[in-house]
Amino acid sequence: MTQRIAVLGATGSIGDSTLAILATQLQDHEVYALSGYQRLDKLFALCQQFEPQRVCVPMIAVDDFAKRLSDAGLRIDVVGGAAGLIDIATDSQTDTLVAAIVGAAGLSSTLAAARAGKRILLANKEALVMAGQVLIKAVKTHHATLLPIDSEHNAIFQCLPSAIQQDNTQIHNPSHGVRKLWLTASGGPFLNQSFEQMQQAGVAEAIKHPNWSMGQKISVDSATMMNKGLELIEACHLFDLPEDKINVVIHPQSIIHSMVEYSDGSFLAQLGSPDMKTPIAHALSYPARINSGSQPLDLYALSNLTFIKPDLQKFACLKLARQAMQAGAQATIVLNAANEMAVAAFLAGQVRLTDIADINEQALSQSQAPLLGADADIEDILALDASARRYTNAIIANIV
Ligand code: NDP
Ligand code: MG
Repeated sequence: MTQRIAVLGATGSIGDSTLAILATQLQDHEVYALSGYQRLDKLFALCQQFEPQRVCVPMIAVDDFAKRLSDAGLRIDVVGGAAGLIDIATDSQTDTLVAAIVGAAGLSSTLAAARAGKRILLANKEALVMAGQVLIKAVKTHHATLLPIDSEHNAIFQCLPSAIQQDNTQIHNPSHGVRKLWLTASGGPFLNQSFEQMQQAGVAEAIKHPNWSMGQKISVDSATMMNKGLELIEACHLFDLPEDKINVVIHPQSIIHSMVEYSDGSFLAQLGSPDMKTPIAHALSYPARINSGSQPLDLYALSNLTFIKPDLQKFACLKLARQAMQAGAQATIVLNAANEMAVAAFLAGQVRLTDIADINEQALSQSQAPLLGADADIEDILALDASARRYTNAIIANIV
């Protein structure tokens, strides 16, 4: 049966990879809806190429965009803003949501899709960092399906038995023998540079990732290794494990995308070229397989695969993420909000790359938020996110 897909965040890097696959797989999939935010010329070109039924743009751009589409002879329903994203995510015609918006802006539509029982292909890791327990609970209560497309989590998912893929609490069943998860990290562009060199780095150097081509925010997160910290929290929620069951190992070649360690001493790994089309294609067609269009690995050309323990002094963000996960959701919300603000300040040239960890640490230590659990409502989460952004602004203002 044809799957109708909504790609929220269609104009970004994950959007590009998803639509590149869908362009060749349109016999089984229909691009039902798209969204964009600032790159509206690109969104317009995607509308011409895929002719979706619906599109979401910022509220302020709805009228102009609708006119532009109708002038081009395209009959597409245009909706706007956060409400428009939720409308598309919960639309009875939407079968699958590709959650590819960056940052906290992706949370509400992802949660709404879970509550509407949709199949969700999750790239937006910040949704799990902010509301992991709430999102996982909504997925279970409303019989939604959550498939990770973050490459590490997709790799782990592929290395787990199907009983755990269907029900993550099965990970605790001793007969499956899962001992630990191993998240691999590339180490980013500063792996072989000193802290002082990292301190002096400009934006262009920080976003020049050695192996992956990605959006700006996640590229900066990779440079500070906050990305691995966010992924650690993401993995705890997706696979129902405490943080001390998840190890991080630097693997600079980005060929092994993550591993599961079993009690008999086996390590199962998923390997592939560093290309997001592979995990996205896996999730799009799961449990079947389709051609993703990524380059197959040339094993003869791989001379060595190496593994390094991360330096937590240099990459303090990784340590902060573990501490926040231990403390609870109120801390992971604050960490995520502070980090989004700190990264934006770095991209705007206001603070140094190495200030990001300090800003995040100060924000966490200033937080006096009460414990938040699986019954927290989205308003409480968004209110805490907003207040953390306010005091992080003050922390940043003290630095600049
Ligand atoms: P990009 O910056 O390339 O794209 C982000 C998308 O979100 C764009 O479509 C952008 O619209 C849209 N967007 C940004 N802000 C808003 C907002 N306030 N409201 C609505 N839409 C908004 O990011 P990536 O594609 O790299 O990353 C997307 C998500 O996937 C992130 O959470 C990231 O961590 C995760 N991820 C990415 C990977 C990658 O390889 N890129 C790998 C694994 C996970 P516009 O461009 O039109 O402004
Ligand atoms: Mg990843």
